[in-house]
Amino acid sequence: MPLFRGSVCYYCGLSTAAEYESIAKDIVGLFTQTFKVDKYELNVDISMGISIYSGDELDPELFIKYAEIALFWAKKEGKNRYKFYSSDVSIQNYKQFELRNDLQKAVDNDQLRIYYQPLVNLKTNELLAVEALIRWEHPDWGIVSPNEFISLAEETGLIINSGNWLLREVCRNYRQWLNDGLPNIKVSVNFSSIQFLENNFVDNIKNTIDEFKLDPHFLIMEITESVIMNNTDKAISDIKRLQSFGIQVALDDFGTGYSSLSYLNSLSIDILKLDESFIKNIPFDDTSSAIVRAVVNLAKDLKIKLVAEGIENWEQLTYLNELNINAGQGYLFSKPLPLEDFVKILVKGKCKPRLVNNAAVMPRKNKRKFFRIKFIQQLEADITILKIRDKKINVGNTKVLINNMGPGGLCFISNIKLPVEKEIILQFITRLMEEEIKVCGYVVWTEEIGHNLHKYGVEFAMDENEREDIIRTLNQVQINMRNRILFAKGSFVSCSPARFFKSLINRKASS
Ligand code: C2E
Ligand code: CA
Ligand code: CA
Repeated sequence: MPLFRGSVCYYCGLSTAAEYESIAKDIVGLFTQTFKVDKYELNVDISMGISIYSGDELDPELFIKYAEIALFWAKKEGKNRYKFYSSDVSIQNYKQFELRNDLQKAVDNDQLRIYYQPLVNLKTNELLAVEALIRWEHPDWGIVSPNEFISLAEETGLIINSGNWLLREVCRNYRQWLNDGLPNIKVSVNFSSIQFLENNFVDNIKNTIDEFKLDPHFLIMEITESVIMNNTDKAISDIKRLQSFGIQVALDDFGTGYSSLSYLNSLSIDILKLDESFIKNIPFDDTSSAIVRAVVNLAKDLKIKLVAEGIENWEQLTYLNELNINAGQGYLFSKPLPLEDFVKILVKGKCKPRLVNNAAVMPRKNKRKFFRIKFIQQLEADITILKIRDKKINVGNTKVLINNMGPGGLCFISNIKLPVEKEIILQFITRLMEEEIKVCGYVVWTEEIGHNLHKYGVEFAMDENEREDIIRTLNQVQINMRNRILFAKGSFVSCSPARFFKSLINRKASS
């Protein structure tokens, strides 16, 4: 971590990034050879995170954190790598680093939550069961989805604690529902393959269920094929013991993994959950429709119950009904809900599909103070996070697409999940009317618009002079739009957001 006095490092007399890079390369080079110690030949790998300080305000903690982030990132890329912090670190890497550091606190400080998603009879809309899905209410990043932290929890072993916490909470809630005379539906809980490594995994589950005086028949254990792939013998005997208590086993994400049908033989699976990726493309995509039809026949022949996941629209529901698939879940019926909201559905015992597909709930601002210009094409911009709770941070840029902009705020699309949080100040840089536009603001609403695609509403945080500048530029844009000459004068892109972000990922992977 070099420290600068003037333009030259106080410690080593180096001044340019290239000079540091050459030292980093030399150090990595030293470790490409094997080391001889006595009669042994040792291979040692090295990863290096480098943070260069060149400003005048020094926050030593932040400085060390940057080096650690760069190190984390270097390790992620493979052995014998070095990474410089700053220009290259993306918001996503920064977030992942913070999540990894804070995960232990999530369990200790009561930041985990359970959301419940109804599983319904597709013909009668009767509530059959509910899936318990974990969330992390992070103090800075808001509600964090399990997709962003389950793999971290698995790597660090914390999945055991969070899994135990979740089962205990589910049992506590279920006991309360029974005490309140609510319908005794089944509850589905996701288990990771790592949890099966626990010695007394089965006894712990049984003890928790007993502690709340519950009949184990209420529980469905959702596992993926990786459970059986990773620890075959123990997993199979554990699953058989759990089934002997009356717990049912569901094979989740069916069709996405290795899909060796022999699993269905070695284990007597009770339920197959047909992955949302197949449902997404029915009935219009022939391959998905053929796979769905084949799985329906397979399940029927093996006498396994089938559940369709991720039902989002009426075409999908109609097709599933035609195939006589009786159980399913998805945004068309309900998104995963916090406990209090789910209990309202449980009281009714029914969950009907929505008449209009308004699955995305958007806390949009009712009235805007300023006008908005909706661009005909999407405007490419770079965003960075300037501050989190008054703490200045230095992360690199990430590409986003701006839909519309006004003097009060803008709306953009990103493949990064950001929280609705006034304390996180974002900066947007783009080009309009051949000028660089730099605006700051915070997210006030969000909507999931596709797999890993989020739309955000931003309110600007700027003074009146800056606002006047923006108004001037936007007025120019409006005049140009009327004359249809805008597109030469801004960073507009013509492809769809999904394609844009896919090409970004591909570009990153090949670089
Ligand atoms: P999963 O088990 O396949 O859970 C279903 C996921 O699909 C959930 O995402 C749910 O919110 C989402 N979903 C439901 N309906 C729809 C729909 O109509 N359209 C779309 N696009 N998505 C829908 P979530 O809650 O983010 O969970 C993601 C994954 O994280 C889960 O996938 C599961 O594998 C894992 N997970 C969640 N909770 C736990 C947990 O407590 N323990 C473990 N080990 N894994 C968990
Ligand atoms: Ca699941
Ligand atoms: Ca699933």
